[in-house]
Amino acid sequence: MELDKMDENDWKYHGEGNKSLVVSHSQHSRVLRLLKYPAENAEYAHQTTEQAFRHIQNIVDFNKNVMRPLLGEKYVHHGEAVKLPLDFVRQLSLKVQQERPESRCDKVMDTFSGCAVCLPNLTHISSCHITEHRPSLCIEIKPKCGFLPFSRHVSKEVKRKVCRFCMHQHFKLANGKWKRMSRYCPLDLFSGNKQRMYIAIKHLLEEPQNNFRIFKNGQLIYSCKDDGDLNELIQQLKPYFFPSNGLINGHQSSKAVLNELIQVITGALLSSWDSGRTGEPRKGLPSEGRAHCEASLLHRDMLRNGNHCLPKDCVLSKILQAQMLDSLDIEGIYPLYKRVEQYLEEFPKERSRLQIDGPYNENFLEKVKNCPTEDDGSIEYAVGKVHQYRVAMTAKDCSVMITLAPCREEDRLEPDMEIPLSKPRFTYSVSILDLDPKPYENIPHQSKLDSKIVNYYLRSVQSKH
Ligand code: ATP
Ligand code: ZN
Ligand code: MG
Ligand code: MG
Repeated sequence: MELDKMDENDWKYHGEGNKSLVVSHSQHSRVLRLLKYPAENAEYAHQTTEQAFRHIQNIVDFNKNVMRPLLGEKYVHHGEAVKLPLDFVRQLSLKVQQERPESRCDKVMDTFSGCAVCLPNLTHISSCHITEHRPSLCIEIKPKCGFLPFSRHVSKEVKRKVCRFCMHQHFKLANGKWKRMSRYCPLDLFSGNKQRMYIAIKHLLEEPQNNFRIFKNGQLIYSCKDDGDLNELIQQLKPYFFPSNGLINGHQSSKAVLNELIQVITGALLSSWDSGRTGEPRKGLPSEGRAHCEASLLHRDMLRNGNHCLPKDCVLSKILQAQMLDSLDIEGIYPLYKRVEQYLEEFPKERSRLQIDGPYNENFLEKVKNCPTEDDGSIEYAVGKVHQYRVAMTAKDCSVMITLAPCREEDRLEPDMEIPLSKPRFTYSVSILDLDPKPYENIPHQSKLDSKIVNYYLRSVQSKH
């Protein structure tokens, strides 16, 4: 890819979130991730190209130097900051506009700075073996927070019983963000219990909202937009799981296809790539204390029985460990944020030594890792905890990409590249994306949002009894 010879016709709309818009290249397995800004807020136009590039470089550095070491090299592709010709970016913005979902058009793509992140296209399988007949299948899951807060600073008992995602659902429905309630509960997905995970993924399929997407050969084929047309999805999936059968049909076959899909997803989420070698069951992250969420409607037996361990190096375990750096909860963090603010008011020059806005380098990671466990009243403790909280927020907001391609009988794969026990063998890769640093300035907002969500939940549940 030559940056000085960019042609918008080589790129197409791929997707977007709240903060960025992504385009993919039609031949190379690459994407460009461009930032977005509120349409009415033209301020960003006044930021210099230097500032914009610095901002993008900060995102890349945070991915590379902070999140990658914490989550594991094999899962995180940090990408690189690029400076694109402005002409190209403007044409691109016009080209993609008609493809964008209306609900996202309150923000516009940055066409002023030309700065972007270039990343591998994770909806494609990176290894060989892609042929016309076996396009890749990619499942994207935004799992959200997988544990109940254990901090002693938590003031409302309900926060220890009902998870944030489930409470937030009530709030989002009331505010018109979604029309239907998702029955997905992150605590079930992160439980490591296959039955609970099965149900969690089934609920994601039934009501994907922005937590679940499927791409086929790099194209989005299933998301919230399609109003959950499961039947169409099943038709598209059938060739992957039952390549040559005319035997089973109808209802039973549909169930079987979804069943296979969920098994494969579960397998990928639980696999640790080096566990296949020894075959030994390894120590994992036990779910005691993470327990379950009272809003999740699971059968009691299911909660009682079974293997409640996440394998140590599986992608869910890595994400959960990073999320649990939020050990104080926002209720414990907010006072520390205020301590930092007060300190900075007195010593503004300390801002850079304390790395409040980066740089996100090895030093920052050290501050995250070596934060004292007890509050000694120091500024170092407060800053360390705030840094940890921000890393945890990033891990609560990331997405997992599971990319699969069926492999032929004659293909010989490394044993740890296969999903164990699934009949049709797939070669697959698992990655984590969307690992932007969450702004320090957002903490007061998080504090307010937390009490809004909890209070709304308490009111709406009380009114039902
Ligand atoms: P959010 O609102 O979840 O914070 P965001 O604005 O930060 O989202 P991303 O999640 O990074 O943006 O990207 C938006 C979407 O683009 C993703 O959900 C994913 O479907 C797609 N995407 C992002 N990066 C890649 C990649 N490297 N390869 C393939 N698809 C990608
Ligand atoms: Zn829940
Ligand atoms: Mg995202
Ligand atoms: Mg994001």
